[in-house]
Amino acid sequence: MIKLFEDYSLKNHNSFKIDVKARYFAEADTITDLIHFVKHKPLTQLPLIILGEGSNVLFKSDYNGVIIHPIIRGIEVIHEDGKHVIVKAGAGENWDAFVEWAINRHYGGIENLSLIPGSVGACPVQNIGAYGVEVSEVIESVETIDMTDGELKLYSKPECNFGYRTSIFKNELKGDKIITSVLFRLSRSPVLKTDYGEIRKKLKKYKDFDIRTLRTVIMEIRQEKLPDPAQIGNAGSFFKNPVITDEEFKKLVRIYPEIPGHPSDTPGQWKIPAAWLIEKCGWKDRCIGEAGTWSRQPLVLVNYGNSTGKQILELAESITRDVSEKFSIQLEKEVNVI
Ligand SMILES: Cc1cc2nc3c(=O)[nH]c(=O)nc-3n(C[C@H](O)[C@H](O)[C@H](O)COP(=O)(O)OP(=O)(O)OC[C@H]3O[C@@H](n4cnc5c(N)ncnc54)[C@H](O)[C@@H]3O)c2cc1C
Repeated sequence: MIKLFEDYSLKNHNSFKIDVKARYFAEADTITDLIHFVKHKPLTQLPLIILGEGSNVLFKSDYNGVIIHPIIRGIEVIHEDGKHVIVKAGAGENWDAFVEWAINRHYGGIENLSLIPGSVGACPVQNIGAYGVEVSEVIESVETIDMTDGELKLYSKPECNFGYRTSIFKNELKGDKIITSVLFRLSRSPVLKTDYGEIRKKLKKYKDFDIRTLRTVIMEIRQEKLPDPAQIGNAGSFFKNPVITDEEFKKLVRIYPEIPGHPSDTPGQWKIPAAWLIEKCGWKDRCIGEAGTWSRQPLVLVNYGNSTGKQILELAESITRDVSEKFSIQLEKEVNVI
């Protein structure tokens, strides 16, 4: 069924808790309804966008268009062999509830992505990643509906063009496809990845550990470091970590010998922590009105109360300008500005 709301408040549909409205908000719980909606275009003169749980978006102002909110549910094992299971999950499932579902069955591959906010449908869009794992490592395919003619299309993993916090759905096909479900290949004999950040240190307090322990530890680390959107509006990392060339990195090391950098997946390139650049520009724990940077992680921009989307954006632009002037590095937003 499609539920259509007019002049709809989005305050509880974006993790920044920005108080804006959508002209129309259409909630759909089946593929048939979604196809019918896009084919018949009842509000054809207005622009359309898709919204999951709103944990990676920033609304600059009211949205004078139609927001499609897919809430297609369901998690099912559609194939299994000795080593793997193929699981299909509906776009409207909550991501972390899906991780919990997998852990309860001892299926491995997504435990390091515990506690990432958002929906299953959005996970391929920016290829969510954390603690040394990207969701693309376990995605088998992505089922979609075309926004203009309602045609169904399945994208295999190579067709998704996954990269660091990106995919075809964030670039060439941005806004063109509604993801209705995602198929994952999970392992029946999980190989735990514990080499990232503080994971090993935290695991030391356990005599034995398994996939459940790893999830617990990752949740602990995240809760210590990141603001809880239920308490303080935010959308996680606001910027991507910039990737620069070998030559640019060497130039910066001469001026700032302490600059951190990790070789990126592409040879000859380095990934620099954006948080370090932001802190060096004096932006740690600073505010413009009620928009600020988070004290324990300046890469996270927060709404301390009644900030508007424009104020958060103003803060982001000031940070981007200062980082560019000091380091000649252009920060790229990870959050989708609407
Ligand atoms: C506290 C916090 C921590 C975070 N930590 C991480 C992290 O560690 N790693 C990480 O990668 N991200 C992180 N994020 C970002 C966010 O959780 C992810 O990007 C998540 O996948 C967004 O899901 P969503 O449902 O909220 O998407 P939304 O914010 O609603 O949408 C994001 C984008 O995806 C599109 N979209 C959403 N659903 C669909 C669909 N069904 N079909 C087509 N397009 C769709 C939207 O149009 C939009 O462009 C964090 C966010 C917060 C608030």
